[in-house]
Amino acid sequence: MTATTTAPRSATGSVALRGVTKVYGQGEHAVLALDGVSLDVAPGEFVCLVGASGCGKSTLLNLVAGLDRTSGGRVELGDAKPGLMFQEPALFPWLTVEANVEVPLKLRGVPRNERRARVAALLRTVHLADFGRKRPHQLSGGMRQRVALARTLALDTPVLLMDEPFGALDAMTRDILHDELERIWSERKLTVLFVTHNVREAARLADRIILLSSRPGRIIWSTQVDVPRPRRIDSPEIATIAAEVTARLRTEVSRHGQ
Ligand code: ADP
Ligand code: MG
Repeated sequence: MTATTTAPRSATGSVALRGVTKVYGQGEHAVLALDGVSLDVAPGEFVCLVGASGCGKSTLLNLVAGLDRTSGGRVELGDAKPGLMFQEPALFPWLTVEANVEVPLKLRGVPRNERRARVAALLRTVHLADFGRKRPHQLSGGMRQRVALARTLALDTPVLLMDEPFGALDAMTRDILHDELERIWSERKLTVLFVTHNVREAARLADRIILLSSRPGRIIWSTQVDVPRPRRIDSPEIATIAAEVTARLRTEVSRHGQ
């Protein structure tokens, strides 16, 4: 048996932050964006991160995604690289829907005939089976986000990081995409870390809601959402939870005189 000095790996699908701090810039221009954030997300858990604009939500997600490095503390993930989705679908405009979804499969070296079947299955998953030959500009905003979701799912990762992915959509489209995301999350047993400033959306989707303080971002409150699924965003239970989160968020924002 050989001795090993590597830290214990986290379970596949788990996300852990240990005293994560992030400072942008240096000297008198330094901005403390996150201050000692510790968080454990269990495999298969759906966690929504809520906080005022500028409190460090995107910073936190980017650190988990590995797009940026922490200034202190650390992020622990299982083996898998997380998939990331933003408010902007960031599709290749010159490629068809099929070709966009195929990109991660190509990059992973999935053989061509297998790719075809995988793309078709992914497009069925997001209910775009008939739109594979279209280009992004021929689709609505909601459909473009479905393509982005299919492309992220093509990574086959158990961890999905979502930064206000439905923020630019109208309420009806968003509502439908909440249903779809909930179904896909539950079918695939994904771990989701979802950033939003929309408290109703958080209450609709989350197993657990985490509230960040205004800058520097610290976890100041969290709550378990024990409402059975599938949920309705306009249900009284969701409204009650959303009202409580709103009240906490208001207190936090007014404390900072914004
Ligand atoms: P949120 O997503 O919650 O709106 P961000 O994570 O984008 O907040 O930003 C948190 C804070 O860090 C903000 O004050 C923002 O101006 C600052 N910030 C974010 N990215 C950078 C950067 N690359 N350089 C300097 N400051 C940044
Ligand atoms: Mg942001």
